[in-house]
Amino acid sequence: MPIATVNPATGETLRTYDALGEEEIERRLAAADTAFRTHRTTTFAERALRMHKAADLLDAECQDIARVMTTEMGKPITQARAEAAKCAKAMRWYADHAEELLADEEPDARDVKDSGASWVIVRYRPLGPVLAVMPWNFPLWQVVRFAAPALMAGNVGLLKHASNVPGTALFLEDLFRRAGFAEGCFQTLLIGSGAVERVLRDPRVRAATLTGSEPAGRSVASIAGDEIKKTVLELGGSDPYIVMPSAELDRAAETAVTARVQNNGQSCIAAKRFIVHTDVFDAFAERFTAGMKALRVGDPMAEETEVGPLSSERGRADLAELVDDAVGAGATVLCGGTRPDGPGWYYPPTVLTGITPRMRIHHEEAFGPVATLYRAADLDEAVAIANDSPFGLGSDVWTHNGTEVDRFVQDLEAGGVFINGMTASHPAFPFGGVKRSGYGRELSGHGIREFCNITTVWHG
Ligand code: NDP
Repeated sequence: MPIATVNPATGETLRTYDALGEEEIERRLAAADTAFRTHRTTTFAERALRMHKAADLLDAECQDIARVMTTEMGKPITQARAEAAKCAKAMRWYADHAEELLADEEPDARDVKDSGASWVIVRYRPLGPVLAVMPWNFPLWQVVRFAAPALMAGNVGLLKHASNVPGTALFLEDLFRRAGFAEGCFQTLLIGSGAVERVLRDPRVRAATLTGSEPAGRSVASIAGDEIKKTVLELGGSDPYIVMPSAELDRAAETAVTARVQNNGQSCIAAKRFIVHTDVFDAFAERFTAGMKALRVGDPMAEETEVGPLSSERGRADLAELVDDAVGAGATVLCGGTRPDGPGWYYPPTVLTGITPRMRIHHEEAFGPVATLYRAADLDEAVAIANDSPFGLGSDVWTHNGTEVDRFVQDLEAGGVFINGMTASHPAFPFGGVKRSGYGRELSGHGIREFCNITTVWHG
């Protein structure tokens, strides 16, 4: 894939970039190694000052970077601005909390005595340069949720961003430099995915994090495994959204629309499979479908647009194939389902029902504004359908029955269970999945500790 800015609303190539050559990659790896030696010795207060500065710059430049993101990957401009604001918030959260999250820990005094020590502490030390392979769907947020904790922990970052968002990738490098992080602390590597192995195998790179597709995750994790390097993987999902009879139907249906089409439907934590109790199925289906039909689809730069184009021609073709496969195997289309003519990679908000396990969409991630509706006879069947997926990232449940809540929290195979709301990330809460959604956690104390050398210091 060429490294280029191609406007998904028009299909027009606006700018192409040369990939870094071997010499330039080597220079950047050396810079990361050198920067780490100094950055690791800076105090939390010094790092926090820079992180706050980065957040302030981002707030001040929110409008500009939002336009870059929308031009590169097509998200509605209002959502691009919200993404920038969320990044600034996460930066401030880690700036303010990193020291406390990584404070020395003292084991229980009885255990210390039992080991024969006079005192013991556990210290979180940084690991070194970390490679981040990131996707285009939240081009700022996916990077910041790695970079803010990594830099605050004393690590340095090497970003291999998706090839269709080079403008955002270069902005991020520049942002951290202008915020005062020393040269080499955060660098963007404009390279294709073929060059990732060379970087990952370099002994100066100590760990890797990847957000993206399963094949990309498998490749990076295999190479990292071969090199015995730690990885965190966040590989998408097909989140269930369960509606039980005690739910507030209007709110559940309205939120369902947002949960499905946020970011033009291209979010790993978007609700994708809507599993509705038979007693409220028809009423929910009617409200949900009406909400999907009413969405304003159009130019992502327009303030009123709710759904823009998909990020790439390939992405739209993949989504259309999933829908066509389901329809060919007997699914019913409640709305949408046809690719429009004209420029841009638009796909209409679509609702399908009558889904069976023979259909690809039952098992695969629909990365676009396509919802599947399932009817469940009872709670057990709702759980069974929800868990009949290779993924396990988020999950949403609508019910006011406490016993049902307990069962869902106990039984849903997911990294998050959101009750009477939609899955969303917050800097203070762990984020990640199980099964083929990946492993490890981002955000919160769990996220910042993923790339630390947890060191036992024992004194005799
Ligand atoms: P990819 O996984 O291909 O891209 C994500 C990142 O991984 C990009 O930086 C990409 O680089 C890189 N990459 C791709 N293949 C490799 C590899 N073999 N080794 C190392 N790095 C690699 O996602 P796509 O954009 O192709 O989207 C495909 C599907 O993946 C989507 O339809 C969706 O199902 C899922 N996805 C999930 C995301 C999530 O948030 N969890 C985000 C994006 C996609 P390059 O751009 O240069 O190829």
